[in-house]
Amino acid sequence: MEEIISAGLKELGLTGRVPADAPAQLAQYGRMLLEKNQVMNLTAIREPEGVARLHFLDCAALLNFCDFEGKSLIDVGTGAGFPGMVLKILVPSLKINLLDSLSKRLEWLTEVYEDLDGVDSITTFHGRAEEWGHKGYRECFDFATARAVADLRVLCELCLPFVKVGGKFLAMKSTGSDQELAEADHAVKVLGGRVTEIHDYAIPGTDITHRLIVMEKTAPTPKGYPRKWTRIQKNPL
Ligand code: SAM
Repeated sequence: MEEIISAGLKELGLTGRVPADAPAQLAQYGRMLLEKNQVMNLTAIREPEGVARLHFLDCAALLNFCDFEGKSLIDVGTGAGFPGMVLKILVPSLKINLLDSLSKRLEWLTEVYEDLDGVDSITTFHGRAEEWGHKGYRECFDFATARAVADLRVLCELCLPFVKVGGKFLAMKSTGSDQELAEADHAVKVLGGRVTEIHDYAIPGTDITHRLIVMEKTAPTPKGYPRKWTRIQKNPL
């Protein structure tokens, strides 16, 4: 796995911009993921090359579009740590906060970072994003990220409240997300955001292209958002 990750980081132009031991750290994380996946549902990808490419290199590609150095980030619906944990390994100065509604996944991620040399503290938030969005963590992160969590309209309501004005929400999507993006137009405006960049990028060693949608937070999110989950689901913005 380490060689695939090294070669992929090189192809992404990231060699020299990430710690020299990052491929080894990611490979160790990958081994722990595949081992734990036998007893806990963490990923549908079950072989090392797939984990290296479709999880690690997919997330690593974000470094080509944002400067995370010394910034704070909340990864909403992090699951097995994607993209949050990968970004932390690649940018150790990033202050990382991993949020998920499943405590077992967060407990496992805590074990992972304790096992990885040089990866200092991470913060975990157990619970639902729409609830944490009202608990004193509003507008206090430079970045919010989300991958494979929900439709973009819903994601905007879950994620934009966490982002400080001037910060960014990074939504990792497929290239088939044009309609989703158009439908999210109203939600983005209501919640204080603006779509500023769309990047389609190839995942090294695959014929897969993914998309990063970058939204800038231009105004505070109105107090009533995020709403309760039933209302978000029944009546997305
Ligand atoms: N981001 C990871 C990835 O790309 O592999 C995980 C994706 S997994 C399909 C979705 C994760 O989001 C699950 O771990 C689930 O528990 C979490 N999740 C879904 N809705 C959530 C919410 N409203 N608040 C917090 N976590 C949520």
